[in-house]
Amino acid sequence: MIKIKNLHKKFGKLTVLDGLDLEIDKGGIFAILGPNGSGKTTLIKALLGMVIPSKGDISIDGNSVLKKWNYRNELNYLPQIANFPANLSVIELIKMVKNLRPKTPNEKELIDLFGLNEFLNKKLGNLSGGTKQKVNLVLTFMFDSDLIILDEPTTGLDPIALIHLKNLIKKEKKSGKTILLTTHIMSVVEELADEIVFLLDGKIYFKGSVEKLKKQTSQTNLEHAIANLITKQNA
Ligand code: ADP
Ligand code: MG
Repeated sequence: MIKIKNLHKKFGKLTVLDGLDLEIDKGGIFAILGPNGSGKTTLIKALLGMVIPSKGDISIDGNSVLKKWNYRNELNYLPQIANFPANLSVIELIKMVKNLRPKTPNEKELIDLFGLNEFLNKKLGNLSGGTKQKVNLVLTFMFDSDLIILDEPTTGLDPIALIHLKNLIKKEKKSGKTILLTTHIMSVVEELADEIVFLLDGKIYFKGSVEKLKKQTSQTNLEHAIANLITKQNA
């Protein structure tokens, strides 16, 4: 479904992506992991056309996405940092996003699921971080798309909301969707990910299942397996 070839991205002198190759098959949950600043968000933004690669190509379903925008209608994206207009209420923002996208939304169920009914008329600027993240999730999941890209969806969520989010992601997978997500919560990776994609030094340093990573690093604990990958690289 997604093919990334020889992708390079520099910000000034800083090389963030350095000849990255990656193929993601259709269907399943892919966890993009890597230390802070390793380029996960940059990779995701390149996929969305929000970051222009210095070199290389990205294609979705066989078509290059560079300089295109229509393909964005066919994917759902949750940004890592949602800069919502502080003066809008939750319901105003939901209505606005509904009007922006040429798709049929299904927001009611999600508003109920995340317990947002009592917040609908509150201004976004007055919400706690976790509640804002729940709004962010409603905006992302209320449309039906084959590709779902979630940049740190777990940030700020309480345990109940985290369970709802995990169930939501599992449900999407069951209906054949492709889900890319980044997270620092290893229990989420263990529970959800069919494959780990590990980014380090601007390249894909590991791609495979949690089991494969544990075997390769001779670790039984995922956090230790990841730490082992990083220290081996630096040795
Ligand atoms: P991650 O999501 O893995 O934490 P990012 O992709 O956000 O990492 O960032 C990778 C590196 O690129 C960081 O060093 C960050 O400071 C830098 N960076 C990201 N976006 C920009 C930008 N627009 N301008 C300059 N540097 C950037
Ligand atoms: Mg990031």
